[in-house]
Amino acid sequence: MSFTLLPLPYAHDALEPHIDTTTMQIHHGKHHQAYVDNLNKAIAGTEHENKSLEDLVAHAGKISAAVRNNGGGHWNHTFFWESMDENAGGMPSGNLAKAIHDAFGSFESFKEKFANAGMTRFGSGWAWLGVDANKKLCICSTPNQDNPLMDVAEIKCTPILGVDVWEHAYYLKYQNRRAEYLGAFWNVVDWKKVAERFEAATK
Ligand code: MN
Repeated sequence: MSFTLLPLPYAHDALEPHIDTTTMQIHHGKHHQAYVDNLNKAIAGTEHENKSLEDLVAHAGKISAAVRNNGGGHWNHTFFWESMDENAGGMPSGNLAKAIHDAFGSFESFKEKFANAGMTRFGSGWAWLGVDANKKLCICSTPNQDNPLMDVAEIKCTPILGVDVWEHAYYLKYQNRRAEYLGAFWNVVDWKKVAERFEAATK
């Protein structure tokens, strides 16, 4: 079995002006495609070739650096595309809104802490909002293509929102202005999707 790159769940220009068309084309068509291709190469002919992506990611640290980097890359990007939508933005509601308020004090305070996790991740990586083992919300970040589901993660949780802070995610439009990109990200977050993940992780 090999993995395939699914089309984006919306058009390449759907997230304009917050995330530009060229970035989406290259990010999905070149970067994400390369993670899929290199993951397939890494598992071909090995005992791992029939495992699910979730299984590979969960044990990535014990399998190989190639599976950790490219399996993580495939999982993280798929999750990222599905976290955004053209008719998105706004604020969370219901149980998720209450949990954000309980954990972080307010939605504004949550946004600050999440952006700070992205800003303080030196080099390349991801910032995450997740549900921890006590079913509480937490914020963390991971280097490179690691994620909080991996055996190697410093902080483990079930991610419900993630943002890519690799330069390839924002450099064409924002150059070195990562904070501006992280600010624009709120306009495209699909809170309905995040809430579905929250309900699944806390039930
Ligand atoms: Mn990326």
